[in-house]
Amino acid sequence: MRRAAKLMDLNVEIEMILQNPERLIEVSVPVRMDNGCLRVFRGFRVQHNSARGPYKGGIRFHPDVDLEEIKALSAWMTMKCAVVNLPLGGAKGGVIVDPKELSIEELERLTRRYAVALAPFIGPKLDIPAPDVYTNAQIMAWITDEYSKIKGKNVFGVVTGKSLALGGSEGRIDATSQGGVYVLCKYLEDLNEDIKGQTVVIQGFGNAGSHFAKFMHGLGFKVIAVSDSKGALYCEEGLLPEKALSCKVESGLVGECELAGQSCKMISNEELLELECDILVLSALENQVTKENAANVKAKLILELANGPVSPEADVILAEKGIKVIPDILANAGGVTVSYFELVQNEANYYWDSDEVQEKLKKTMTEAWTEVFENSKKYNATYREAAFITAMKRLEEAIKLRS
Ligand code: NAD
Repeated sequence: MRRAAKLMDLNVEIEMILQNPERLIEVSVPVRMDNGCLRVFRGFRVQHNSARGPYKGGIRFHPDVDLEEIKALSAWMTMKCAVVNLPLGGAKGGVIVDPKELSIEELERLTRRYAVALAPFIGPKLDIPAPDVYTNAQIMAWITDEYSKIKGKNVFGVVTGKSLALGGSEGRIDATSQGGVYVLCKYLEDLNEDIKGQTVVIQGFGNAGSHFAKFMHGLGFKVIAVSDSKGALYCEEGLLPEKALSCKVESGLVGECELAGQSCKMISNEELLELECDILVLSALENQVTKENAANVKAKLILELANGPVSPEADVILAEKGIKVIPDILANAGGVTVSYFELVQNEANYYWDSDEVQEKLKKTMTEAWTEVFENSKKYNATYREAAFITAMKRLEEAIKLRS
């Protein structure tokens, strides 16, 4: 943010505003456990900035949740929504809990109690949570139900990431990957590069990574390696993502898959990141390319589907090597974009088919890329800096008009 602020000569008062969240909410969440004892959990919601619209951001249930991290993630959401020009601000929430230790009934009671505690501060026009780490469509359904009971009417738009049966949107499940694909294809088009034969390596073969691999293969890219937390599968001649996925589902380990008709071998996660390829897609965790391994990366382009997979030090090393990075706040914004579409459909009580969602998602993502690309040229900035410049220009304009 600071680098981008300097390049664009951001008004110092606006920078100060953006460095501080507007509101911090800390709640205690008492829950009667199955054994009859009462436990009190701590929960947070940080509402970072609402200059451009209601706050938006996920809720995570994790033992490592801490307020400082939630604050950082809420600012990230403000930037993400602004870069793709959604009329939304940024927020993030969490509860310090290991949900794997809870029974399903305890998890439901915890969720409903957290929803009650947050109820005065959320709503379709105020702050709209969504799933994040260890939260899902069922948890969103409980929040919707609890909030609707408090309001005395159905309020489906209080959260997004819901099941289709409860006001969810078509296209939500693979929206993050699909959004990344639209950005990547527009990038290649702008650089007059052909899709056919481009080699792709994907770190993290989970929800985002596996959908992305399928889309890439379908478009004619050559996916040569994929990995999960236990190892990587490398097929020099290219692999079939569908086959790798069904093997992973059966065996649990993608690295050990033997794909009929394809000569593949298992390699380590470290080796995967250093493979010779055109595009390296990071869709696992944060801090995967660091100052320790950045110099060994041989990809021409990195696409960040995960949040924060390249450390700030590594970013500098990659830029010096001429490796381009399409940053997370743009590359994975397809998820929050379809979340916004879900909210719009809930508020109108009118639902779009899949084609309509795709058409609008493609438009949003490609227009965002074009603006970031233009700003990278105008300010002689990396794509990451240009994405922040694009976002902060919008925020600056809105904040100035309101002040
Ligand atoms: P997921 O849990 O479904 O998948 C993560 C995958 O990464 C798993 O296959 C896991 O085995 C693998 N992995 C973990 N550590 C690894 C390592 N060191 N090397 C290789 N693989 C490793 O999660 P997801 O929903 O696909 O999310 C992935 C990333 O994308 C996260 O950073 C998430 O915040 C981000 N993201 C996801 C969405 C979404 O809609 N799913 C939206 C925005 C951002």
